[in-house]
Amino acid sequence: MTEKPVCVTGASGFIASHIVRELLGEGYRVRGTVRKNPESYPYLLSLPGAAERLELVNADLLAKGSFDHAVAECEYVIHTASPFEISISDPQSDLVDPAVNGTESVLESCIKAGSVKRVVLTSSIAAITDEPENDKIYTENDWNTMSSLSRNPYYYSKTLAERAAWDFIMHKRTGFDLVAINPPLVLGPSLSPALNTSKQMIRDIMMGEYPAIMDMNWGFTDVRDVAKIHRLAMETKRAEGRYLCTGDTIHMRDLVALIKSSGFTGYRLPNVDLSGKTGSALITLLSFTKPRNVGKYIRTQIGRTMNCDITKLQSDFSFAFMPVKTSIIETIEDLVRWGHLKTA
Ligand code: NDP
Repeated sequence: MTEKPVCVTGASGFIASHIVRELLGEGYRVRGTVRKNPESYPYLLSLPGAAERLELVNADLLAKGSFDHAVAECEYVIHTASPFEISISDPQSDLVDPAVNGTESVLESCIKAGSVKRVVLTSSIAAITDEPENDKIYTENDWNTMSSLSRNPYYYSKTLAERAAWDFIMHKRTGFDLVAINPPLVLGPSLSPALNTSKQMIRDIMMGEYPAIMDMNWGFTDVRDVAKIHRLAMETKRAEGRYLCTGDTIHMRDLVALIKSSGFTGYRLPNVDLSGKTGSALITLLSFTKPRNVGKYIRTQIGRTMNCDITKLQSDFSFAFMPVKTSIIETIEDLVRWGHLKTA
């Protein structure tokens, strides 16, 4: 194990805070980057091992050279910071600029540091495709070629950021390698009171934002598994390239049934099933009444299932996923605990 701190960018976030916890739990020293005063993050500072081994420093994806101090002396950098939002006003400045320029900025700082051996990048399934083909099995060789500033711009930002990282590694003499992790929707308990976008989707389903069951399938992975996968990607010498890490896929109908049968009552769960052919045509029409990015997301996902081949992850890391049902139930319990869910 390295005595040097491991840098985790965007340590305040849903996934990164779990990465920080995972690393502290394994005895690492951690340097997390945040945007506010470190005292604003009691949920990080109170983690087991934090008092002795966690340092929080300021860095911003949009400020050139901002990560120089954060990565100095580090051998490993886990770059997770990136805006994850669907409803934005300007896709270029709200999503693409921080995702792409921020990734390049972190990598430039790693070159300057001279000590970095590996960067683990939190990419996304969004960089694989934004409109899965049902009869295809996706692998690490697939790239999203359809998103744009006007079509699923969050997907676009993640695709451009990951591409920028690989271009950087290919064209510059970095002295370090890159491993990318491409998770699907990530669920599970939050360490912070904030509600991130993936958990908001579960909240929205329970709070009546989706009045009908749609023909939607989501791949999920628990945040604690995602954190472990980042650590394994950092520690495993032979790890290379990209890693798909979809744990399980669940249809919206089964998700709603699971929630109902798990004793969560009093919520405005969808009670009409529009997952058939006619229903899907209606949903497609109705999607045009939703905010532009939400409508586009629905239209590119409806009736589609993303099948992922995770052989590479399993053979390099021998990884066993937490069951998706456990993760969903614990997500809902956590939403209740933080006051994000209110009964009707
Ligand atoms: P969060 O919104 O919880 O975390 C995003 C993090 O990025 C926060 O720490 C945020 O800081 C930081 N950040 C955003 N903009 C900037 C900026 N300009 N400068 C510095 N930091 C910034 O999201 P998640 O934890 O869900 O996502 C984390 C990563 O995982 C992202 O890269 C996302 O694309 C990826 N991902 C997420 C999935 C999911 O389902 N959650 C699935 C696949 C990939 P602050 O707290 O100050 O806002």
